[in-house]
Amino acid sequence: MTVSAPAQVQDAAMIAVTFPDASTRTFARGITGAGIAASIARSLARAALVVEVDGVLRDLDWPIEHDAKVKLVRAEDPEALAVIRHDCAHVMAEAVQDLFPGTQVTIGPPIENGFYYDFFRNEPFSTDDLARIEARMAEIVKADLPFVREEVTREAARERFDGMGERFKLELLDAIPEGEPVTLYHQGGWFDLCRGPHGPSTGRIGAFKLTKVAGSYWRGDARNAQLQRIYGTAFATKAALDAHLHQLEEAERRDHRRLGREMDLFHVQEEAAGSVFWHPHGWTLWRAVENYIRRRLDGSGYVEVKTPQIYDRVFWERSGHWEKFRENMFTLEAEEKHLALKPMNCPGHVQIYNQRLHSYRDLPLRLAEFGSCHRNEPSGALHGIMRVRAFTQDDAHIFCTPEQITAESVAFCELLMKVYQDFGFQDVRVKFSDRPPVRAGEDAVWDQAEAALWEAVRAADLECTLNPGEGAFYGPKLEFVLRDAIGRDWQCGTLQVDFVLPERLDANYVGHDGAKHRPVMLHRAILGSLERFIGMLIEHYAGRLPVWLSPVQVVVATITNEADGYAAEVVERLKGVGVRAEADIRADKIGYKVREHSLRKVPLLLAVGAREQADRTVSLRRLGDSAQTSLSLDAVIALCQRESTPPDL
Ligand code: ZN
Repeated sequence: MTVSAPAQVQDAAMIAVTFPDASTRTFARGITGAGIAASIARSLARAALVVEVDGVLRDLDWPIEHDAKVKLVRAEDPEALAVIRHDCAHVMAEAVQDLFPGTQVTIGPPIENGFYYDFFRNEPFSTDDLARIEARMAEIVKADLPFVREEVTREAARERFDGMGERFKLELLDAIPEGEPVTLYHQGGWFDLCRGPHGPSTGRIGAFKLTKVAGSYWRGDARNAQLQRIYGTAFATKAALDAHLHQLEEAERRDHRRLGREMDLFHVQEEAAGSVFWHPHGWTLWRAVENYIRRRLDGSGYVEVKTPQIYDRVFWERSGHWEKFRENMFTLEAEEKHLALKPMNCPGHVQIYNQRLHSYRDLPLRLAEFGSCHRNEPSGALHGIMRVRAFTQDDAHIFCTPEQITAESVAFCELLMKVYQDFGFQDVRVKFSDRPPVRAGEDAVWDQAEAALWEAVRAADLECTLNPGEGAFYGPKLEFVLRDAIGRDWQCGTLQVDFVLPERLDANYVGHDGAKHRPVMLHRAILGSLERFIGMLIEHYAGRLPVWLSPVQVVVATITNEADGYAAEVVERLKGVGVRAEADIRADKIGYKVREHSLRKVPLLLAVGAREQADRTVSLRRLGDSAQTSLSLDAVIALCQRESTPPDL
């Protein structure tokens, strides 16, 4: 049998390396990432941290033996973060064993926002210990010790860890499948059983911080030994670490669960996990959002409907949801029938559409619903009002002809941008998700749908990134991502083209030619889930909502009880012009009242005393501003009315 060599490399001592820009160069077999970097530029050799060989991250001194796709990863590249954090976990483990002899090591992986290491030690680590560990880590980083990979036999590794009394490492060693290499990574005199890869040396850890200690169990099982988990994070640069720590602090300060409590907006409780109890002020906020959207839809040619919550299982089988979505659906039984709560509104809207025969003249038909849906999320994934099981979509389905898809998509993108701007979001991106590997419908139909969305994106002049293969099973989609005040991204709006559901549920219209045709369905939402959007609004504004969204827009607080009657009059006039106003005529000091209403994030506070009453004036103070302005009653009523009015009314 003969084996032919790859066409591009005839010399057995050479290999072909293909770079991300598709350029190819030949190198001696066994060349390392470090060698390749040095051959390109000295600056790249200094900046490279690891190398990606055919999609797998490797140490820079890993010999490349075959033709391969190679990408040099620099410390600042996103792929490097997990490596830096894993490097840092090793450094932390060494520091801990230096400072607390007898502590046994277990595992220390990188995680989403940092890393941890689990230790076995009888005495608990204190917060003061963290500072000492950090100081020792800084010394190890400063020493710039090379990470050295050593491949050893199973027996040699066993002997070493056994001699050190590292019984958890012995268990990990036993868990390495037969035939896989056993590798140790050394830094100075310390080493760990580890698959790698690692950066070239400890000095390449740019900036790190230990964040907390928590309890854990060996292999995550409460029947096993109790361990102590030290969490930390690391970044390529001090600036990146500082930005991350600042964002954490801000996220904590803005947490919608805490603000929701302080502002008395809502609560959730165990007995209704994943559903929200809206309190009066929270529901006022909800209605402000809902009414605003309703007005926008009214002005954009939509008609609002309401469809049932519970349907027979047969209905979901017909729509295809039972097959694709059943594990997310809540089911129930009645009169020996198998029923399910709706996880989405689409098939319900088709029922309304199908109640009569449509002509092409009826299209586009835009059916909108504040649709209450239920999806069975695991309880561990629930998060305040952001991730729930019962939620309300600002949903609509546009039934149109294929020729109308582009115009409808463009109009939708424009409406959506207007809405986001009105809520105070300027930074909007679009993700385009095209055909997934598992999908319904013909490829020709997908070609047509994808082309229409591209045209809408271009026409609406939106910045767009491609998510290959992430489309829904029934059609391609656009997803709209908002960036909030602290730089976090939230996917809210969607626009999905659907050629499949009208077919499955037999929706028709009569065309120019007098024959029956299939309409196309566009599924679209702007806010997505109202619950989640409101949670996001609260965090974006840190509770200081724009006046038009504030549950209580104005509080009229008395300085002395002589002004009680005047305060009541001011409140009545404000209510008369549609302002959500309250009087605070308690006998407390004005300073106390100001603090309390500030905590509730009331945007406008009007103080009235004997003098204001006599002069027919009020003293206006804005949330977060210690200055006060004296205004005539008429002027302040006009000001409050203007600022309380929703955009575009
Ligand atoms: Zn839908």
